[in-house]
Amino acid sequence: MAKVIDCDLDTLLSLSHYYFGPHGACLQCGAPLGGLGGSAPCCPSCSAARYCSGACGNAHAATHASHCALCAELCDVLRIDADRWAAYVPFR
Ligand SMILES: [Zn+2]
Ligand SMILES: [Zn+2]
Repeated sequence: MAKVIDCDLDTLLSLSHYYFGPHGACLQCGAPLGGLGGSAPCCPSCSAARYCSGACGNAHAATHASHCALCAELCDVLRIDADRWAAYVPFR
C-alpha cells in the first residue's frame, strides 16, 4: 500500500523539519510552548502546526494554508504522532 506524496524531496524534507522537527516553539512568533503542554492550539486540519495562541494561528494561517494538505498527508502516511515522528527526522 505505497502512497506517493506529490512533492519533491527537498520540499518534503524542509517542511518535515519545519513542522515536525523543532518542537516546542510557536510557528508564528517562536514563543516556547513548553508551558502549554498538550494544550497548545494547533491546526485543526493537520494537527502539525502548533502555536502559542489562537491569534498566532490566525496570523500564520495564510502561510500554513499552502502546507496544510501536505502536513496532513505526512501525518496520514506515517500514522504516528508528530512527537514520535520527530525522532525519525535525521536532521534536527
Ligand atoms: Zn505565537
Ligand atoms: Zn494544517
